Formats: sequence, C-alpha cells, structure tokens
Amino acid sequence: METQKQFKRRFSFEFFPPKTQEGMDKLQAVRDQLADRNPDFFSVTYGAGGSTRERTIDTVLTLHKQGISTAPHLSCVGATKESVAELLDLYKENGIQRIVALRGDLPSGMGTGGSVELRYANELVEFIREHTGDHFSIEVAAYPEFHPQAKNAEDDLRNFQRKVEAGATSAITQYFYSPEAYFYFIERCEKAGLNIPIVPGIMPITNYSRLARFSDMCGAEIPRWIRKQLEAYGDDMASIVKFGDEVVTRLCEELLKAGAPGLHFYTLNQAGPSLRVWDNLGLGDKISF
Ligand code: FAD
Repeated sequence: METQKQFKRRFSFEFFPPKTQEGMDKLQAVRDQLADRNPDFFSVTYGAGGSTRERTIDTVLTLHKQGISTAPHLSCVGATKESVAELLDLYKENGIQRIVALRGDLPSGMGTGGSVELRYANELVEFIREHTGDHFSIEVAAYPEFHPQAKNAEDDLRNFQRKVEAGATSAITQYFYSPEAYFYFIERCEKAGLNIPIVPGIMPITNYSRLARFSDMCGAEIPRWIRKQLEAYGDDMASIVKFGDEVVTRLCEELLKAGAPGLHFYTLNQAGPSLRVWDNLGLGDKISF
C-alpha cells in the first residue's frame, strides 16, 4: 500500500440520473445533504449505448453549477467517436474537469449499437487524451475481484495497465467487502509499476436481495458470513441496516488506516446510508486516522 499513501485522500458520491422530475427533486435533496459534508466531487452514471445521454448531461450540469465539482461517467460501447467528441466538447465548455471513462455494458437486446470504434475503456481514454489533451482528469474502473469477463487474473491486470498507460489519472474500484482483495490488487499494481490513486468504491448495505442481484451481475463477492447474517434477518430491515452500517464502516476504517487514497460511495441516490458511514468514520473535516 506504500504507493497509495502518497496520494491526497479524496471523497466522492456517485448518483444515477433520475428519470422523472420527482426523482430529480429527490436527488436535489440528497445532493444538499451530501454537499454539506463538502466532498471533493459528485459523479453521475451514464447508460451504456447512450440510453441516459440527455439525463446524464442535465444532471451533471445542474449539480456542477451548484458548487460541487461534478464528473460525468461516459461509456464508449456502441458510441461513435463523433458522439463522444461532442459530449467532451460540451462538458469542457461547461467547465467540467473530470470524466469517469468506461466501456459500459450494453443492455441485452441492444446489439452492438452499430459502432465498434471504441471497443474498450483504454481506447476511450486514448481518444479523450487525443481530443482534449490534458484538460480532463480521467477516472477509470478497477476490479479487485476481477472483471466478470476477464479471461484470467493476469489479463485483467494487463488491461487495467492499458488504461493507465493510455492516460488515466486515477481509478475507482468496483465495490467489494473483503479488504484483502483490494490490498492484493494494489500490491499487484505496485509490482507492475502502476502509480495512480486507486480509490475503493463503497456500496452501503441496505437491501439484501438487491445487493445479491447486483453482485451476481458485476462479479462482486458478498462474503459468506455477511450473506448468512443478512439472510438470517429476513424482512427485518432495521437489523439489516444496522448490521450493514457496521460492516461497511469497519471496511472503510480498515481501508483508510492501511492508506487507501479516499472513498467513492455508490449512493444509489440515497443520502442516509453513505452519510451514516461517513459520520461513523468521523470524516466531518475529512481528517481522520
Ligand atoms: P474495460 O476496462 O474495457 O474492461 C472490460 C473487459 O474487457 C474486462 O474483462 C477487461 O479485462 C477486458 N479488456 C479491457 N481492455 C481490453 C483490451 N484492450 N483487449 C481485450 N480485452 C480487454 N457502466 C455503465 O454502463 N455506466 C456507468 O456509468 C458505469 N459506471 C461505473 C463506475 C465504476 C467506478 C465502475 C467500477 C463500473 C461502472 N460501470 C458503469 C460498469 C462498467 O461499465 C462495466 O463493469 C463494464 O463491463 C466494464 O467497463 P470497464 O470500463 O471496466 O471496461
């Protein structure tokens, strides 16, 4: 973890773009609560294939104007270079300085979207650098428990390395609940000479069946002891939330103590779960252990 300790810690919250005005109003309230903690940035997801293009743009620009720097996610699968360039220009004109660059997963039934101009995230990073030089900080995804489509562990690391070499500034991980997976991933990156901040992505635990579904899809492991305990609570939501807060707080504590360069919370557009962990950690002024 030595390389990670040299980086300044940063804290961020991720949202998805709401579908309705009601959802947007709710997100506004969530944003206000989280903005109170003065995070380094917010980020807003992007539906692969451009399915949320307009909503992502609107949400990013609205939040960014309100004072906390906001980073759009941008996925390249099914997109043309021309459409990506348009988005980059728009964000640049509006003062956006950070992009989360991803391949994305096309929803089933959407085919390939017609274009194979940018097949993998490393190609997207390369294109962003080509088109906008050093303007954007570029975040990429990292997978301590491996990407579900990776051929093997070595290939996955090499593919991560490609993104760093293409010009990524830092990385955010897929969520995980075993700190060892993150520590081991960092060790392998250090051995490969990859010297960028790799910030743990944190998924609060509030709903077992939803979490289990997500985890199956994205290849994140819920350790047996956590799964069994959550199953045992059944419909007792209060106990699930209490246990989830404890587990996630301990995880974050361990990561920060070991030198993780910050945390990125997957909020699912809810303030409470991330805030409880944040406050448990005493991150009020962002100076902690
Ligand atoms: P890549 O880095 O391109 O990797 C994809 C797979 O291809 C991996 O198995 C990798 O090993 C392999 N690979 C990579 N490069 C090559 C290459 N050059 N040759 C051969 N194989 C290669 N999805 C969305 O749709 N919208 C979002 O807003 C979004 N936000 C996310 C935010 C974070 C922090 C994370 C961790 C994930 C997010 N995702 C999002 C999910 C992500 O799009 C999926 O996990 C997707 O399957 C992979 O994206 P990637 O950018 O990691 O792809």
